[in-house]
Amino acid sequence: MELLYRSTRDTDNIVTASQAILQGLAVDGGLYVPTKMPALSLDFHELADLTYQEIAFKILSAFLPDYTADELQYCIASAYDEKFDTQLIAPVVKKGDSYYLELFHGSTIAFKDMALSILPYLMTTAARKNKADKEIVILTATSGDTGKAAMAGFADVPGTKIVVFYPKDGVSRIQEKQMVTQKGENTFVVAIEGNFDDAQTNVKRLFNDAGLKAKLAANGKQFSSANSINIGRLVPQIVYYVYAYAQLVKTGEIQAGDKVNFAVPTGNFGNILAGYYAKRIGLPVNQFVCASNPNKVLTDFFATGTYDKDRPFYVTSSPSMDILVSSNLERLIFHLTGDNGAQTKSFMEQLSTGSKYTITDEMKAQLSDFFGGFAAEAETLEEIASVFEKTRYVLDPHTAVAENVLKKYRNQTKDPLPAIVVSTASPYKFPRAVVEALGHKEAGLDDFAMVHVLNDLSGVAIPDAVAELFDAPVLHERVVASDGMKACVAEILGLK
Ligand SMILES: *Cc1c(COP(=O)(O)O)cnc(C)c1O
Repeated sequence: MELLYRSTRDTDNIVTASQAILQGLAVDGGLYVPTKMPALSLDFHELADLTYQEIAFKILSAFLPDYTADELQYCIASAYDEKFDTQLIAPVVKKGDSYYLELFHGSTIAFKDMALSILPYLMTTAARKNKADKEIVILTATSGDTGKAAMAGFADVPGTKIVVFYPKDGVSRIQEKQMVTQKGENTFVVAIEGNFDDAQTNVKRLFNDAGLKAKLAANGKQFSSANSINIGRLVPQIVYYVYAYAQLVKTGEIQAGDKVNFAVPTGNFGNILAGYYAKRIGLPVNQFVCASNPNKVLTDFFATGTYDKDRPFYVTSSPSMDILVSSNLERLIFHLTGDNGAQTKSFMEQLSTGSKYTITDEMKAQLSDFFGGFAAEAETLEEIASVFEKTRYVLDPHTAVAENVLKKYRNQTKDPLPAIVVSTASPYKFPRAVVEALGHKEAGLDDFAMVHVLNDLSGVAIPDAVAELFDAPVLHERVVASDGMKACVAEILGLK
């Protein structure tokens, strides 16, 4: 039986890998998951000598079987090239007792580059394979990171346009500058007068607007999603878990077959779920430490078996983890039910109508792959300071959350296995929080001045992605009211 994809809410809704990538979300509201785990022999004596691109080819071939070898080679070569500032793409560095898997060497210096660099190629290839000849229009609402990474990925990719909406006063100055200086004839960035929820709600409305859909079709266009619910974002993330392990074998830090732990700073549960899939295909992992900030809905879920989103929302120094509904958890829930679509659908309906659901004891017993924990704000900032003091290595706040929860895990369990902290952003993306954590309260300085302070303090070179922002010309100046988004999309796309 070939590996196909099916919806978590209706197991009869089955499509090929390329169709799943093209569609994004299933029409029944579910997420696409593989119908089985591919049989793959992970021989680490062999894998240790492979490049990132070669390991990507092995993993992607196994999970995306309807793509040809040539198609995958083209997608991989186009994605993982000089956009990354190191040939290793995702280096593992050792500092103190910990290993850090650095996922911030791509064009926007955060981990979303790992998948969003390749998604545009997987998607346009999928369109070709499925004879979908319409131009793909990616529509995204962003609270900062996703929008820029998606634009960087889709910029000048033939057959696509991308429109990103962000809340005018809801993103950092650096994030805003990254977006409004984006190059590419096919990229459009629009600030809205409203908050992130307004942007997100209106984008969802546009996706479901039947009249607009018909108009798009008449103009030879169709919407698609670059959101982390797309399986085309999840599968490329499996690669760096395998690659990280292979690197440790190569450098002799571990022997092939030894078990390791991963600590993952988690928001939407996409990154850590890719790790879980890596384990399901044979990566020797003992525990995944699922690290949250004070928005600790997942910590509580792992402790009690109840997922309850009805709770206060905290704005923290790790904004990409300020999430109360972790969309990708639905995929884990589906697997815990023994791939039962009806049961998964019922849990998700309880979540949207009543704000919570409780899994069965049988399901809870299978959660032993995960250890949930959270870091308070003060603990996160102390972690940045203490790691810097001991090793001169500078963590960003998201990575510091993972480091702190890993420490708690080790204290509680005495687990001596080697642990890899998944490092999701460069500290230069959050210079204010990091500089303040290092004990410097530079009152009155803006985020750009903070970049220089961080450089002086840490001696870490300013990444090109930040350096080039200082005098990059602003290319996007659209600002609209949140109820003007539909008219704005029609204008940008020239819909008749
Ligand atoms: C998106 C993001 C996360 C959270 O990843 P999920 O896949 O949503 O769990 C963590 N850190 C950074 C820097 C991010 O951008």
